[in-house]
Amino acid sequence: MRLLRLSPSLPLGFLLLFLSSVSAVLARAEEEDPTIRTMEEFSGYPLRESPSWVADSLSSLSVESENLQKQIDELASFSDTPAPSVTRVLYTDKDVMARRYVKNSMGLAGLSVREDAVGNIFGRWDGLEPELPAVATGSHMDAIPYSGKYDGVVGVLGAMEAIKVLRRSGFKPKRSLEIIVFTSEEPTRFGISCLGSRLMAGSKALLKELETTVDSQNTSFLDAAKYAGYAQDPVDLTSVFLKKGAYAGFVELHIEQGPILEEEGVSIGIVTAIAAPASIKVDFEGSGGHAGAVLMPYRNDAGLAAAELALAVEKHVLQSGSIDTVGTVGILQLHPGAINSIPSKSHLEIDTRDIDEERRNVVMEKIHQSAIRIARDRGVKLAEFKIVNQDPPALSDESVIRAMESASKDLKLSHKLMISRAYHDSLFMARVSPMGMIFIPCYKGYSHKPEEHSSIQDITNGVKVLALTLAKLSLK
Ligand SMILES: [Zn+2]
Repeated sequence: MRLLRLSPSLPLGFLLLFLSSVSAVLARAEEEDPTIRTMEEFSGYPLRESPSWVADSLSSLSVESENLQKQIDELASFSDTPAPSVTRVLYTDKDVMARRYVKNSMGLAGLSVREDAVGNIFGRWDGLEPELPAVATGSHMDAIPYSGKYDGVVGVLGAMEAIKVLRRSGFKPKRSLEIIVFTSEEPTRFGISCLGSRLMAGSKALLKELETTVDSQNTSFLDAAKYAGYAQDPVDLTSVFLKKGAYAGFVELHIEQGPILEEEGVSIGIVTAIAAPASIKVDFEGSGGHAGAVLMPYRNDAGLAAAELALAVEKHVLQSGSIDTVGTVGILQLHPGAINSIPSKSHLEIDTRDIDEERRNVVMEKIHQSAIRIARDRGVKLAEFKIVNQDPPALSDESVIRAMESASKDLKLSHKLMISRAYHDSLFMARVSPMGMIFIPCYKGYSHKPEEHSSIQDITNGVKVLALTLAKLSLK
């Protein structure tokens, strides 16, 4: 325990450098070596409180906040709509420019950069034991039309700053650290959310779907990918699949996109579970007709069937018995869509989520039964009831939660455990790696609109917690 007597005024850089330079030796060292215990205390494995002098030194982790804000603003300028809104859709020119910007920044930060066949970007900092599975962090930078500049971007540029913080401090990771920028977290262009991470997690269903997927302009996914410089011939998208165990851990820094942290004045949210979405497409077909001529007893109104199903979705969700169950009918279209015409066709898209997969699946089944009954009662045809996706929720890994908690404690930042009700690439990374997420407050919980904002102080706090969490996991 010699190290514990070191002066608290020692520069952090020296401390981390010293700690990490012995880390390579540690693995082979004797159990009784006192430096091992010290290292355990630094890394938090097994869990113990970090000594107070570590916490004192850590509070000086130097984040270059001004530069980080400048980068966030610069990246926001790659947009198809004017500031303050951001619109950056997959494989468009602006997306390609943003990718170039980030790859260039990774290079300048000394990371080795590579991309896979769909454009997931990886920036790697080799650890002292590069053959061990790396610890990864990252997020997305695509933006739905007229959204804001922080969603996803904080977890990309913030990750870059976290790596720079560790580098500046003189820290050397044992496991390599890797930043991942995921392709198309948003479903804007091809209707597929978390496309990059879903594929990395080995989704064979997605692999097949991508062969025939087209956007609203009828451009195929593969052509769009080629336009952006990816999916070159011969196309082998299985090369995107990650092997289980490829990463020792994955941590995503993200704005909360909800109001809880700001309302409660808490700096850091430690995500313990991510609610999983399921989406359903429904089509009813009735017989239509003149709004004046066809009397009520003779109608088969497809629009009313849709309206009744929308209310049934609400009823089933409310009856689940948990506040965590939610359901939304976000799309409801009537055909032909004229005031004096009885709808002959209707189309609904239903989103339902929960942190409990079974409970959500029960709700989905009830929605299905209601659709069948409504069609029968109203004499319309249930032309389609298609489950588009039905993803299982994800739990954060205990060891990653502990690392995030002890990092927050070391940094003396208020924190709370919470659930992510929005989904993220982490949902899919959890299938191939122990996963965790760090949330920071955002103004009124606003997201996906130009008013989306996180203060640079909150972002800086998030970067510090991320840096320290990565450091701890990299030494594990
Ligand atoms: Zn996001």
